[in-house]
Amino acid sequence: MEESKKIKLLIPGFFSSKLKRNGKRRYKLQYINSHVEVKQTKEFIEANKKSLEENLRNIKEKYKEIVKRFYMKINSLPHINKTNFKRNIEETEILESNLFENKELALMGFYDVVFKKLQIPYNNMKKIYHELLHLSSSYYDEMKGIIYSGFEQYNKNTKQYIGRGITEGYTELLEKRYFNTQAYENGESYYFLEQEIVDKLEYFIGKEQMETAYFNADLNYIINELRKYSSLEESLKFIKIVDFIHKYANKNNLVVTQKIYIKKLYNEINIYLIKVYMKKFKLYSKIKNLNQDAIEDNLINYYNKKLSKISYNDIIFQKLKLEKYYNIVSLYFDNLSEEFKELFVGKSTRCKK
Ligand SMILES: [Zn+2]
Repeated sequence: MEESKKIKLLIPGFFSSKLKRNGKRRYKLQYINSHVEVKQTKEFIEANKKSLEENLRNIKEKYKEIVKRFYMKINSLPHINKTNFKRNIEETEILESNLFENKELALMGFYDVVFKKLQIPYNNMKKIYHELLHLSSSYYDEMKGIIYSGFEQYNKNTKQYIGRGITEGYTELLEKRYFNTQAYENGESYYFLEQEIVDKLEYFIGKEQMETAYFNADLNYIINELRKYSSLEESLKFIKIVDFIHKYANKNNLVVTQKIYIKKLYNEINIYLIKVYMKKFKLYSKIKNLNQDAIEDNLINYYNKKLSKISYNDIIFQKLKLEKYYNIVSLYFDNLSEEFKELFVGKSTRCKK
């Protein structure tokens, strides 16, 4: 793959004061790096050989139990690579934030793979899982100055990044899946919109494959899979739009035009995800020789995946309209049954004689 691919994304001027005067501008995206594999350096191999107790020898007593519990869980999943965890945990200092220093910062959790620090947000020990997931999926290439973290690549020198939105959404989704199943219901979960998006992305990629790629910090796997069913430019654009939504959907004081634009982008990527899924599923259904019932059940399941209506920062995100979904599906699948059609389009659309 090209080392750095530029794609164009039009960002309207109302998103940045710098752009106001010029109106729209072309936003160039650098695809940072195609190399994402976790290097099996000597240190990595050494850390892997050691017992868990040895890996955790620098961790404060009060955090040891919860860190162990975390490790036991990921260790029970054979498709997950534990190398990043073992390597990073050895040198990491776990901190609890100090509310008296900086209130805003204190409520945040973070993991910093360069300075090897993991901060638990003030009075919210449960969020340690989210940060431990970052720790277990992060790798710093000191030579190039590039941080690989889940599906994110961040160039420390140019400050460019890609994949932050899907990474945060997926980290939160994994936390919920394996460590804190009640969080979503109790409203303790963050990045709802990003979670919605990665939930559909995972349906397309496959659960095990997506988890494997996350812990390997392998954005390339995701891009290559998307590229089989769309162009490289479309694949990168999708990832970058999620970054954009991630950056702006949470902001205070968004004006109406900005909200409308975010919603438009969301709908755009929703349709993109449906299309790549349809292409992949069509191929799969042929290989597996699925009958019409099985195909239609799957198409209904895809439509029924979560998102009934989410209000986020006063922006209402809704599912694609039934009829629109049907219109896309029918581009890829013919011979859809009348019952299937009625589910989405209803009976009343037939012309009178
Ligand atoms: Zn995070």
